Amino acid sequence: MQTITILGATGSIGSSTLDVISRHPERYKLYAVSGFSNLPRLADIVIKHEPEYAVVHTEKDAIAIKTLIQERSSRFSEKSVFPKILCGQQGLIDIAKESAVDTVMSAIVGAAGLMPTMAAVKAGKKVLLANKESLVMSGELFMKAVEEHGATLIPIDSEHNAIFQCLPYEYQYGKTQESGISHILLTASGGPFRCMMPDELENVTPDQACAHPNWDMGRKISVDSASMMNKGLEFIEAKWLFGVNEQDIKVVIHPQSTIHSMVQYRDGSVLAQLGNPDMRTPIAHALAFPQRIESGVDALDFFALADFSFEKPEKDRFPNLFLAMEASALGQAATTALNAANEIAVDAFLTGKLKFTDIYKINAQVVERAHNVTLARLEDILAHDEACRAYAKESIAEINA
Ligand code: NDP
Ligand code: MG
Repeated sequence: MQTITILGATGSIGSSTLDVISRHPERYKLYAVSGFSNLPRLADIVIKHEPEYAVVHTEKDAIAIKTLIQERSSRFSEKSVFPKILCGQQGLIDIAKESAVDTVMSAIVGAAGLMPTMAAVKAGKKVLLANKESLVMSGELFMKAVEEHGATLIPIDSEHNAIFQCLPYEYQYGKTQESGISHILLTASGGPFRCMMPDELENVTPDQACAHPNWDMGRKISVDSASMMNKGLEFIEAKWLFGVNEQDIKVVIHPQSTIHSMVQYRDGSVLAQLGNPDMRTPIAHALAFPQRIESGVDALDFFALADFSFEKPEKDRFPNLFLAMEASALGQAATTALNAANEIAVDAFLTGKLKFTDIYKINAQVVERAHNVTLARLEDILAHDEACRAYAKESIAEINA
């Protein structure tokens, strides 16, 4: 029996994880969950899955969630079945490192996921990593901590999970020179704006940006997919996860999202992982690794596939992707800056305070301003992240002045 903490249980990845684990009650026991703004959803999760701990943002939320749970289920008026409610970042860290936990699903969106994920790593857990922002912010320190503390890191991001599956077992974490790999081929759907001209993008709305053709995801990652910043973040994520250099990773647009990524070898072989676009596949793979379990995802029907095509990404249409590749080569300060700026810019876009095309401008300005800093410790990274968020807000104010 594996005991599991889900950081970000109320989100899209959190929901898919709950779906997979509820299919295998003999293998998985939910130990702890966290939510943030969606307390009704968190209350429903507690009632259905009966974890021992639930984490909310504030003390006020802790009172609110107890009331919600009691209102929705008479069983929970009894104290004996009530979970312990914790609050804030310390609560997240506690459920990530708790000794009773075997596996931590890291599915909080954005920089808020870094410290709890790091806590799970430092406690030597099996860490299922959806929160790519942790690696973009702190790749080198993060991977060092994985090694030092004996954590098992398994990627959830569908592309990285695919690459992980296509790599030989003993080379899943680096040593690519010895493994005979020529390239990692990171596939991208191209998002909802793939066929639009650059000048048409200026007035797109948040709802248009979030209407992804293949994947159903949270709003922040959906906007990142539309701008292809998501692929940029994944480029940086792949570099750290698999211990490769920038020139070892190529991005290929594959609009159908059937191939989830590939590894090309020196002998000419290309290994690909295919499947329907449903995050329950990588989640089930990571949960059961190295075994395989049923995930609830339909088998791929090759005769129903209408098309299977590939395109090269263009810089004028997807400047954020190329900015991320440049930031990756510049180093940790640049990628931390990029992530911070992008979170602020995407939030401004989603709340109607910034045009879609200005996300790139904000990101580029902050990377230019803040890439030349040495970040030796986690505290330096957090301080740099904070400073870059302030720079991004200044840039947004200037654009809107
Ligand atoms: P969602 O927005 O659907 O969910 C985010 C989760 O994080 C929710 O549980 C949310 O709580 C919680 N959360 C938000 N802000 C905070 C905060 N400040 N502190 C603590 N918790 C917070 O996102 P997704 O599930 O789509 O994505 C989660 C992560 O997985 C992201 O890093 C994303 O890049 C990555 N990912 C997602 C994929 C997908 O298919 N969805 C695919 C690959 C990677 P609440 O809802 O209660 O506010
Ligand atoms: Mg992905």
